[in-house]
Amino acid sequence: KVPVPSDIDISRSATLKRVDQLAGEIGVLPSELEQYGHHKAKISLKILDRLSSAPDGKLTFVTGITPTPLGEGKSTTTLGLVQAFTEIGVDSCACIRQPSQGPTFGVKGGAAGGGYSQVIPMDEFNLHLTGDIHAVTAANNLMASAIDTRLFHESTQSDEALYRRLAPKDKPFTEVQQRRLQKLGIDKKMPDRFLRDITIGQGPNEKSMTRRCKFDISVASEIMAVLALSTSLADLKQRLGRMVFGLSKSGAALTADDLGVTGALCVLLKDCLKPNLMQTLAGGPCLVHCGPFANIAHGNSSVVADQVAMKLVGPSGFAVTESGFGSDMGFEKGMHIKCRSSGLQPHSVVLVATVRALKYHGGGPKILGGGAPLPDEYRRESVDLVVKGCENLAQHVAIVRSFNLPVVVAVNKFGTDTPAELEAVVNAAKACGAADAVICNHWAEGGRGADALARALMALQALGYLYSLDDGLEAKMTAIAKRVYGADGVQLTDSARQQLDRLTELGYANLPVCMAKTNFSLSDNPSLAGRPTGFTVCVSDLRLSAGAGFVFAVLGSISLMPGLPTRPCFYDVDLDCETGEVLGLM
Ligand code: ADP
Repeated sequence: KVPVPSDIDISRSATLKRVDQLAGEIGVLPSELEQYGHHKAKISLKILDRLSSAPDGKLTFVTGITPTPLGEGKSTTTLGLVQAFTEIGVDSCACIRQPSQGPTFGVKGGAAGGGYSQVIPMDEFNLHLTGDIHAVTAANNLMASAIDTRLFHESTQSDEALYRRLAPKDKPFTEVQQRRLQKLGIDKKMPDRFLRDITIGQGPNEKSMTRRCKFDISVASEIMAVLALSTSLADLKQRLGRMVFGLSKSGAALTADDLGVTGALCVLLKDCLKPNLMQTLAGGPCLVHCGPFANIAHGNSSVVADQVAMKLVGPSGFAVTESGFGSDMGFEKGMHIKCRSSGLQPHSVVLVATVRALKYHGGGPKILGGGAPLPDEYRRESVDLVVKGCENLAQHVAIVRSFNLPVVVAVNKFGTDTPAELEAVVNAAKACGAADAVICNHWAEGGRGADALARALMALQALGYLYSLDDGLEAKMTAIAKRVYGADGVQLTDSARQQLDRLTELGYANLPVCMAKTNFSLSDNPSLAGRPTGFTVCVSDLRLSAGAGFVFAVLGSISLMPGLPTRPCFYDVDLDCETGEVLGLM
């Protein structure tokens, strides 16, 4: 058997189409295309006006079981599936998120799919793309500077001219929640644990206005969420303007509009709202857009990318959109936050499972990322561990089915999996209510390896939500905790309860809740594998993302500024200065 080359070698040896050729093939007009080099382009949202009365294609969500730090192949399956559709002759388009530097240089080493199921060129995809995440960081920094400037001048003078566009004078603020993403000249697209809690304002000219403050990673920011949820420039502007960064002395919510910074934020972000067109290894389209993490943010690519993809593929085609981590994370939030606010309605769901993750949930040893070798249990047959781990699979099938959506389990086959292990997963999936379950080999074979998955989706006929928007915030969190995570309920810390009361008083209780939870367990405790029971979820903080349109609940001890592992992937990344080639991206 010929070994599968490295992802970057496969990407580099592929024959690339020019992006204008691809755009022409899928029905994007030259006037709707803005090229960034030869293989990437932005698609103008004018296309949604032109195609407004054209029928939509079917929307399929790709989600997964509770993953290991290595990822179980959701992006790989998303790309393998659309490659399979391309090969069968069914119009399709993948929608995936842009990775941030954390995955690329930290644990995972990129997110372009893998093997013969990839978006290409993978180095351009994994690095700057068209600069959208940089712009999100810049917009956050501007907002942070606007807040600091306002605090400083408010304390020192009352010059009307300075505040021409600012908040009414009766609204000086006392409390600031805006997180900064870049200060100190350090770029916060990259995790840096030392910035989780810092003190600013220590310079001699800052009038001793020191203040403790925190960094979050860019992809956990409200601005990233706003971008992913906005449906037009006007909507983007309104959402940015609604972002609440603090409270006035009288307790009123203060917004970006109050700061007078909304217009400038919108200017920094205007091009980012257009999805980025790239291609799969089969030469089909892939829209890469926005990058909210699924544990500490809402975990889905943009609404507009899905909308454009559904128009482009037409009524018999499939727009395949990936949501991050397990179905308790990106999928639940995709339904309650992305679909509910936009009206998008999925046709079907693919649930990706791997033998290795199921072995872990069945009691196998911990799996480390960053190139650490896999323990032996993951290299030799153990049907017992797999069968035990299928409890986790069963819970994820139940989560998707509770939304009244049909789910096909895609068993992503690795070279070390044995036929008996793979069969055990298929049997367990069918027994717990999946509409179908198929073994997929698209990593090794490209689209051909996901042919059965594509056909299973085409054979499906196909909404419900787990809570009503009128339910209180605690009732919403309880519904997710019980019905998605399998918990007994939620418990709020005193400060979270105070926040809940305050947000309810301020009139924000009718928003959906974005749960920030570990992706390594169905519970809020990362060390509980399998299908944990008999636990209560601890809500340690509640924050408002009024512009994005949700309340953000922080569960357990999750941090919004991840740290890097002892052996980060960046050790392997280099540039060949003679050829200009990027080396070491996985
Ligand atoms: P996810 O989207 O679930 O986080 P990815 O699709 O990014 O996972 O895959 C994670 C890593 O695993 C990638 O490096 C990919 O190349 C690799 N991978 C995925 N599927 C397979 C497979 N079947 N065999 C070997 N490696 C795989």
